[in-house]
Amino acid sequence: MARIAAFNLGASDAGAAIVFGKTIYLYKVTREQLLANIPYLRHEVAHVLQYQREGWFGFLAKYVWLSIRFGYRKNPMEIEAQNAQNDKEILNQVTIL
Ligand SMILES: [Zn+2]
Repeated sequence: MARIAAFNLGASDAGAAIVFGKTIYLYKVTREQLLANIPYLRHEVAHVLQYQREGWFGFLAKYVWLSIRFGYRKNPMEIEAQNAQNDKEILNQVTIL
């Protein structure tokens, strides 16, 4: 799935991450690289929190619908995650295992 996401983003060299529930799946990105890139980590954690807020089905249904409606970059859930990249508190809401 992360590979598909990377392909869709046209960023297969840059790697990708995709969140299902509480797990961040990585493709061509290491755990260490993600943990060292705080804005990137905050972005993915924002999606984990969206899952918790919306529920599994709610997240996926909403995300797919909004992606079709607005496209990836203008998807409000992506904009929320992009804004979270500057959120100094967001990582306090999760435990990274
Ligand atoms: Zn995102």
